Amino acid sequence: MSNYIQFIPKELLRDIVTRVAAFSLTDYINVKLSCKMLKEVAENSCVEVHIDETDDFINRCLENGNSDALYRLGMVQYFGHDNLDMALKYLNKSGSLDHVGAYYVICIILIYSGDNFMKEGVNFLSTMKLSREYRKRVKFYREHLIRILGLISINNSTVLRRRPICCTKNHKLVTRYALVGVEDDEEDYVFCDACTCDIEMAYIFAVLPPL
Ligand SMILES: [Zn+2]
Repeated sequence: MSNYIQFIPKELLRDIVTRVAAFSLTDYINVKLSCKMLKEVAENSCVEVHIDETDDFINRCLENGNSDALYRLGMVQYFGHDNLDMALKYLNKSGSLDHVGAYYVICIILIYSGDNFMKEGVNFLSTMKLSREYRKRVKFYREHLIRILGLISINNSTVLRRRPICCTKNHKLVTRYALVGVEDDEEDYVFCDACTCDIEMAYIFAVLPPL
């Protein structure tokens, strides 16, 4: 098996292992045992949550600077296991190591959480999208989140039942950064922060099962 696996990009393998871990501990262990490369990928993905859901584990990731692992775990905990506390625990730790994907997922969670949390999420996400550099990274992590959502089983009742709306003012969408430069491939920027976030959320709603 390992002969074929070496040709699969590591990033794809990490997504697959994340998916396996979200479904079944036994399968996950089998994956780890099946070959050296998969064991390495599994360990680097830190989907070890199912085995070792402890502060020790988080500390190990922090010590190793493994922010990506904590981010992946946070995603799986929120969307797959509907465990907000664990999700925020992992994502906040990942964010403390400056992982933009963790910031992004925290914003999405805040928006889903409504009221003042939503306001906080809108502020944070729209601020990130003010910078071209961050817009690129937001796009990257949005696409990654969408990929993971396609791989795991979504069990978060809030995500399955709600489609939060950030802007209630019915703004006409006007491109905000139209003059910034043609190479900016994000064209959905509008003058209102909340509208910006509604457009961001629409990408995610599009891949969720219908209400
Ligand atoms: Zn608006």
